[in-house]
Amino acid sequence: MDVAVIGKGPAGWSCAMTARMRGLSAVVIAPRNDTGLLHTAERIDNYPGLPHISGSELLDSFRDQALAMGTEEKTGLVRQIMPNGSHFMLLIENDVMECKTVVLAMGAARPTLLPGEEEQLGHGVSYCATCDGMFYRDKRIAVLSTSMQGIEEAAFLAKVVGELDYYALKPHNTEELPSMAHIVHEKPKAIGRDDAGVTVTTDQATHCYDGIFIFRAAMPLNMLLQDLKTEGGHIPVDREMKTNVPGVFAAGDCTGRPLQIAKAVGEGNIAAISAAEYITKHG
Ligand SMILES: Cc1cc2nc3c(=O)[nH]c(=O)nc-3n(C[C@H](O)[C@H](O)[C@H](O)COP(=O)(O)OP(=O)(O)OC[C@H]3O[C@@H](n4cnc5c(N)ncnc54)[C@H](O)[C@@H]3O)c2cc1C
Repeated sequence: MDVAVIGKGPAGWSCAMTARMRGLSAVVIAPRNDTGLLHTAERIDNYPGLPHISGSELLDSFRDQALAMGTEEKTGLVRQIMPNGSHFMLLIENDVMECKTVVLAMGAARPTLLPGEEEQLGHGVSYCATCDGMFYRDKRIAVLSTSMQGIEEAAFLAKVVGELDYYALKPHNTEELPSMAHIVHEKPKAIGRDDAGVTVTTDQATHCYDGIFIFRAAMPLNMLLQDLKTEGGHIPVDREMKTNVPGVFAAGDCTGRPLQIAKAVGEGNIAAISAAEYITKHG
């Protein structure tokens, strides 16, 4: 794949269209629980040429146009971007995809981590059941999730682990949890560690586990791409939408204010042109 675009908002679709116009293959990726909020806008009055359009109409029209131009679409949260020589490997939920360039078009939504979570990541805390589930054969684990995605991941983990406690970080249907899972009706407040393992401290108690799996609809920027430079939660870019990582570009709300559709579309267009130039130069 020439261009992997992370995000199905105005920046992502615009980037994919220009990439296709430049003869590149392009895929646009976003999770099932889309964190883009434009579809909730009832009326947009400042997008040129399309007065009084709703957010969902505009997004549908971007998507239809991009797909008609041959853009591929993929559903899944991108958990990690790993530079691999002249290419990048993307971990999309439990799939891996290889691409030549990456365009970050992830909007401004960032997850709020639990205190202590980042410190324990890789030391008992994981965001990927497929990658790390096997380390917890017959062990005691916790699954914390904001959505139904946690139910699917718990179903996979239930086949491996000995005990599984499930915490809903936001309300969602838990009826399809595997029968061996135990729902804990407490509110997680922090992640920590004691002599016996990693801990979940809730509004009521502290529970100890061998491992903790956490599932949300977005990723913190520094965990998505290790060496990516950020400033106040945004990704600094130059006028060509280049980030500090060669081959990685960014567009739209994730590069900072103004948070506007026209700006996102323009930056998506520039990012695609820059990605095309990068591919021409680097092969
Ligand atoms: C209610 C409302 C009304 C608005 N009205 C206007 C208006 O009238 N005019 C105007 O100009 N602007 C308006 N805006 C702002 C506008 O919606 C944003 O500026 C615009 O959507 C930004 O586009 P984007 O592509 O950068 O990001 P977004 O539209 O936020 O899209 C981000 C995408 O990235 C995906 N994503 C995030 N993390 C990952 C990941 N790790 N892996 C895969 N996918 C990921 C998300 O799921 C989403 O698909 C409004 C916003 C809201 C919420």
